[in-house]
Amino acid sequence: MGEFVKPRVIVSKCLEFQGCRYDGEIIRDQTVHNLLPYVEFIPVCPEVEIGLGVPRDVIRVIDNDGMDQLYQPAKKIDLTNKMNQFSEQFLTEVGDIDGFILKNRSPSCGINDVKVYAGIEKAPVIRTSSGLFGSKVQAQYGHLAVEDEGRLKNFTIREHFFTKLFTIASFKKLKKEGLLADLVEYHAKNKYLFMAYQPTILKKLGNIVGNHKKKSLQQIFEEYEVELYHLFAKLPKYTSNISVSQHLFGYFSKQLSAKEKEFFISMIDKYKKKKVPLSSVASLLHSWAIRFDNEYLLKQTYFQPYPEKLIEISDSGKGRDYR
Ligand code: SF4
Repeated sequence: MGEFVKPRVIVSKCLEFQGCRYDGEIIRDQTVHNLLPYVEFIPVCPEVEIGLGVPRDVIRVIDNDGMDQLYQPAKKIDLTNKMNQFSEQFLTEVGDIDGFILKNRSPSCGINDVKVYAGIEKAPVIRTSSGLFGSKVQAQYGHLAVEDEGRLKNFTIREHFFTKLFTIASFKKLKKEGLLADLVEYHAKNKYLFMAYQPTILKKLGNIVGNHKKKSLQQIFEEYEVELYHLFAKLPKYTSNISVSQHLFGYFSKQLSAKEKEFFISMIDKYKKKKVPLSSVASLLHSWAIRFDNEYLLKQTYFQPYPEKLIEISDSGKGRDYR
């Protein structure tokens, strides 16, 4: 498997980088820690950037006629405009970005589980929303790998995040270089990964790459990029993973013994019943690609879409199942 591009990732500064929380704490985060050698992190603390000190009085998101407002109750200060202006300017000036890891539940950084209060003091929580910085990130970069550290404790979500982050970063590098031959190679080695995500989009991507004579290079890369973002918008379905595994199995089935075939079928059955993770099935197929020295399959990113050392099977047990 080839080298991986180093994605540029914006991260909430209180995750592993600095004790900049309202109480001066730093949060230890295993995913951010593991990613350190493989990504270029750009840490930012929006609350410190708008001039709030450390430690500081807490701030909240308040509902104001359906609009989210950022407020510091102890000082009775409305921080909404300041935070919105900082977020827009920062996200415009930061340059090319591949992903985000943001602190969950934060009124600034949170992306989907931030408490919204009915009023400034002693008011009940009436709904959840994004933090103000988090909502600007989603509006401008929602098509990229954007997650919060809480959700990344789930194995499936983390695996999807890493896959999306490294695959898109690699495409963006190709786009900058602008060589059609590189795009053709990229498409070929991602074939089974894309098939597992969305077979219909794999077909569209193939048509874009194949139709190159009628379109400019720029058009080809741009159309490919749009479809790539659609492809990674959702996690792969487990039925698509089964179909890809059976496809790959087809490469070796004539060379395998009856017992090996039986073993593979039983693995697929266990995967369907959630008794083994997909990685066990993929490892078995990968071992056959090595044994039969299948060069084409050995190049497939399906077997390793992101650096192997990032595989950490720990799981919060919350959210989705392990597929
Ligand atoms: S969650 Fe965001 S705003 Fe809050 S301390 Fe962390 S980086 Fe700063």
